[in-house]
Amino acid sequence: MNPETIDKIWAKSGGKCECIKAAHNHPGGHCNKELVREMHNKSGAGGWKLLQMFVSSGENINAYAVYCIECFQQLPAVLQKDETYSGKVWGTT
Ligand SMILES: [Zn+2]
Ligand SMILES: [Zn+2]
Repeated sequence: MNPETIDKIWAKSGGKCECIKAAHNHPGGHCNKELVREMHNKSGAGGWKLLQMFVSSGENINAYAVYCIECFQQLPAVLQKDETYSGKVWGTT
């Protein structure tokens, strides 16, 4: 995953959390928290993570969503540990 692809996913999100988990009780169904591009994989104000929604070959930006740190931390641990979106893999390719 190259930085240009991450930029495309970021652009797709509009710079906002794309979480639509009903369990989070977001008003209107969407989180829509405003995030900061430079805060990728960082905690704190505007921090966010890339979440892999489904397995896809190649660099399909629709397979990924931008999640704020708060929503990401509410996901099951099994999802959070997937290195394909933790930054370890993406940061080195
Ligand atoms: Zn969120
Ligand atoms: Zn959420």
